[in-house]
Formats: sequence, structure tokens, C-alpha cells
Amino acid sequence: MVTTNSRTVAPCSRIVGELTVPGDKSVSHRAAMLAALATGESTLTGFLASEDCLNTLSAVEALGATVKRKGTDVTISGTGGVFSRPNAALDLGNSGTGMRLLVGLLAGQPFETELTGDASLCSRPMRRIQEPLEAMGACVELSGETGTAPMRVGSAPLHAISYPLPVASAQVKSCVLLAGLYAEGTTTVIEPRPTRDHTEQLLRAMGVPVTVDGLSVSLDGFGAAGPRLTAGSIDVPGDFSSAAFWIVAAACRPGSRVTIRNVGLNPRRTALLDVLKRMGAGLSITQTTDAAAGEPMGDVTVDGSPLHGTTVEGNEIPNLIDELPLVAVAGAMADGVTIIRGAEELRVKESDRIATTVAMLQAVGVQVEEAPDGMTVTGGPVTGNVAIDSHGDHRIAMCAAILGLVGEAPVEVVNTDCIATSYPSFWDDLERVSSGEEDNVNVVIAIDGPAASGKSTVARKVAAALDDALYVDSGAIYRGIAWAALERGVDVHDADAVARMLADLDVGFFSRDGAVGFGIDGVEPGMAIRTRAVNDSVSPVAVIPAVRVQVVKWLKGMAALGTLVMEGRDIGTAVFPGTPHKFYLDASAEERTRRRHREMATEDAVDEDEVGKSLRRRDKIDSSRKMDPLQVAPGATRIDSTAMAIDEVVESIVAAVKGMP
Ligand code: C5P
Repeated sequence: MVTTNSRTVAPCSRIVGELTVPGDKSVSHRAAMLAALATGESTLTGFLASEDCLNTLSAVEALGATVKRKGTDVTISGTGGVFSRPNAALDLGNSGTGMRLLVGLLAGQPFETELTGDASLCSRPMRRIQEPLEAMGACVELSGETGTAPMRVGSAPLHAISYPLPVASAQVKSCVLLAGLYAEGTTTVIEPRPTRDHTEQLLRAMGVPVTVDGLSVSLDGFGAAGPRLTAGSIDVPGDFSSAAFWIVAAACRPGSRVTIRNVGLNPRRTALLDVLKRMGAGLSITQTTDAAAGEPMGDVTVDGSPLHGTTVEGNEIPNLIDELPLVAVAGAMADGVTIIRGAEELRVKESDRIATTVAMLQAVGVQVEEAPDGMTVTGGPVTGNVAIDSHGDHRIAMCAAILGLVGEAPVEVVNTDCIATSYPSFWDDLERVSSGEEDNVNVVIAIDGPAASGKSTVARKVAAALDDALYVDSGAIYRGIAWAALERGVDVHDADAVARMLADLDVGFFSRDGAVGFGIDGVEPGMAIRTRAVNDSVSPVAVIPAVRVQVVKWLKGMAALGTLVMEGRDIGTAVFPGTPHKFYLDASAEERTRRRHREMATEDAVDEDEVGKSLRRRDKIDSSRKMDPLQVAPGATRIDSTAMAIDEVVESIVAAVKGMP
């Protein structure tokens, strides 16, 4: 990829906020491939719509699966055991995972497939998969000069092998196991040390028993007819490797606090958390899924604190292989020396990541010594005012951005296009966690709560009681977008279409009569955003990540206008997590139904029952969505207004705000 694009990242003294990172890359690749082979239709939620994973989707489509995608939701109808012959070479772009895993499956197909990729992928080692596959009887032809892609594979019967892996690589392990599905007999892979086990987890979830005995992983093959995988729903967790950028950024900046929600917590991926704990980081981890139900997920909160150096080597390495450049960044920000050894695998990633990490740290004035299998980093001032070239490696590009964020002066990251291969919304998230500083420019009173809990009446009155405060109804903005979609005939369930529409809308904000109002393409929608149609469309619209990112950005920007009383669902958690004035207003479902029924536009009048149903539906979507769900913000004061008069609620909030510094 030839690019000249760049981006400058300025230091940020406090990194704060809550994020949901995009879906796990490893799980997305595997889920797409296995769903494409399964019998029946699978639904993948939280799929990572990055270039790499979209290439895998195109590849499985070319192999006969039917793929439908709406944003991060993907439906795949599988081919039921074997693929069909593609018409052309499969192009896996930049993705080593995509290529190495797919080759495993293609080795057992009754036809030959040609695979290729971009220049970086065509320079990465493929002999490591060719060797075991040939031992299984496969035909694997590498036409790159040094044992690299392009390659041809397939059209030979496979037999099971027992294969001791010469390098600890989850990709090679997965490749052999996936080929093993088409072999007669039991295929066993013996690892030198444990690596990621997403393939094993997913195979089990789809009905193929996988046996693990110490470092041996085995499965029984199905022969040339291929496996009988059960289609179903696959919930892709947030990618820990993407979350890691914010975890490290917050960890090394005292005073910072970042929470990452619904992130994958597979222990084979999260060794970074152990390393950061050793370095003195403040971490709290809550697992939110049942460990027995496939990939574990949960929330990680990091509080920044002074860090000290550590040593990372041995069995820990495969479980944080992608995070090692970030460990080096944490080492640069820590007191003392951080040693990384046993990581020679980094030399054959999207770049020689030992060389690129060392060069990156040296560029910002950090003392670092390169070793054949790692590096030694001496913590010290991280200076900036430099340009760092990513060399087309997405993780290096993002690490360089983090150095700009946590260091002492801006860093220009050069060659940033590659970030889209794994983390398309990286810059939005960077902006989110780094604009927290503005929280304290003006006082913000955050009032969150479910629909019809009395937030708007209360917030308006609180604003009136505080001199010069502006009332902001954040729900009205989501409603305005839903209204605009309905007006323009845009399907509110089509995330891409709504995002495209939003990008074209001209939205302007103004303050009038103590409140912030808005116009869309020059029109103030007024009561048109309170209709039944909008009520039913707003929550699906508010679930769309592009909508949330945009609205949160607008809402944060309002802090410059003055003291704000802002009500919504995520004001205390995502928009102004740094404000000390957070309230969560609630009332019983019956009381909320009564209130909403009373205030509805008369032409839409329906019976209370129906209002109640619609409210509950909306509450459910709002509190179960992945991004910024409705929940009580840490430190928020809860107020149950069921049996309280509105003025009582207002007084208690005003008293609390005035009583605080
Ligand atoms: O507050 P109101 O009921 O008008 O909000 C309408 C909808 O907008 C909510 O049900 C929710 O889906 C969405 N919303 C949100 N985040 C906010 C405010 C509202 O997702 N901060």
C-alpha cells in the first residue's frame, strides 16, 4: 500500500472515557470461515468490518458461501462441508491470519485454489504452513521467491498427522487443525507453548470435539466429505488487541481513567493485563459472560498511575504477541528497565516489529537496545516533535499515535492507511478518550436514566435554577436523526445507509431560551421528533456506532458554550465521564408509562398498554446495546422519582451541585 497520509497526535494530560472497541479480528476471521463451511445460516454480531476481515468475507463468498452484511452484523449461509471452486485467485490483502487459516481449509478441498495478497503479505513466511500440510499429503505450491505467497493449494486427499510446532504460532496450529477436518484419523498439534485458542473454541461451539491434553491439541477428521459444522449465532467480543492501545495509554498517564466494555477476555490474549499489573497499573476487570459459554467477555477499567519496569519472556509471549510494541511504550513511560525476550516471532509480522518498535522509541528520545529476540527499554522522557513512519504496519502506526498522546510533544504518524486493516474507528476513539480534558472547562451536570423517567422536566428546571446554565436534550438529537431518516426514506435498521445520510446532513446548533436547539438542513423539526414513528425508530438509530460517535462529538463540543445540564442515556458514562455531577434518574415502569402517555402528541394517542410496551422495547435496546449502553455511571447519584414530586427531585440535584466544589 503506497500512501502519503499522516496524522499528528498531541499530548493529552488525562485520558478518560468509556469505549466499546470493534470486534475481535482473530474471532471475526475464524467465524467467517467456519460459518461459510457450516450447514445452514449463521449470524455473526460485532463482526470486525476492517479491510482484512472484509477480504476474508469476499474469499468465502467466492468459495460458495452466501454473505449478507449490515455494518457489524453478518449473516452467512454455509456450503455444508466442502467449498465450491472459485473463479479467480483469492486476494487476502494484508492478512496473515486470513491466508494461513484459509489455506488449511483449502488444502482439503477437491480442487485447487490460488491465493495471493498485498506486497507485505507476499513477503511473509508460508513454508511454516507448507511443511505440515505437505506432511498430511497436501499439494502446496509457493510461487513467491522465498517461500512466500502467491500460492496454490488443494486437490489431494489428506491424512492425519501428529505435528510438533517448531514455532509457537496460533496461525500454524489453526491451519493444521483446519486441514485436519478433511483428513482421515486424528490430527494432533503439539505446541512449544500455549497460543491463542480461538479456533478450538469456535470448533467446539460449532459441534466438533477438540481435545486438549497439556500442550497437545487434537481433533478427529471427517475425511474428504468435510466436517458437519452447526450454524448458529456467534457473538464476536471486542478485540482485546484494539482495547490494549487505550489500556496502555491510560495506564501510563496518572489521573487517567478508561473503561473498555464488552472486550474479549480470553486468557490466551490478555497477558498484557498481567504485565501491566506487575508494572503497577490500577486495573479492575469484570467478566460479564459465563466462562462456559464460549469466548469470555467483560469490562476493563484502567486507572493511570506511575509504572515501573518489568521483564516479559517465555510462556507469556504468545499471549501478548500483538501487544509487545505497547509493552515497549509502557516501558518507555515507566521508571527503570523493561526487558522483552523470546519474541523473535515479531520479526515476521506486518513489519519487522522489533526493528520498527526500536526505531519508533528512539525517534522519541527513548533509550532502547535491540536484541535478536526482543529489546531492552530504559524509561525516561518521551519527547516528540518527530514524524514516525508506520512502514505500513497498523500496530506500529497506532503505537506511534499513543506515544504522541502520552508523551511530552506531538508526534506525526506517517502512513496511517494501514490502521483500517484492523481498527477502522481508531481515530474516533482516540478523539473520544483524549477530549476528556475539556470536561472541566465548564460545569456539566449529567442526568441519565431510562425513557420517561422525568429527565427532561427535571433537567430543564435544574438549568433554570442555576444561573446561565443551558439545558441540553441529547435524546432530541438522536430523535432528529431518526426523523431525518424517516423523512428521506432511509431504512433505520441499515447502519451503513444511516451513516451515509448522517455524513450528508447539515446539522447546526444554537442556544435559545436557556436551551440548546438544533436544525437539520435548515429545518427545526420541533414536535415532529415526538411522533410514534420516531419513538419506534430512535433506539435502532441510536445503536449505530457512526451515529453515536458523531452525536457524542457534538455533545462534547457544547461544553464550550457554558454550564450545561445535559440529559440522556450515556452523558455520565461516555460524553462527560469526568464530570463530578452525575445523576441517574429512575421511576417504576408503571409510573414512566403513565407519564409518557400523558405527554404524547394527541394525534398519536394510543392506550397506555401500548405506550408501556414501546417504552420497554426501547429500554431493552438502550440498555443492551454494545456501545454506550444505558447504565448507572460510576459515582452517579441514583434518584428514584416514582413517589417524588418533580420539584423535590430538582431541589435535591441543585443542592447536591451547589454543595460540591
Ligand atoms: O430521551 P429520549 O427518550 O428522547 O431519547 C430517545 C432515544 O435516544 C433513547 O431511547 C435512546 O435510544 C437514544 N438516546 C441515546 N443516548 C442519549 C440520549 C438518547 O442513545 N444520550
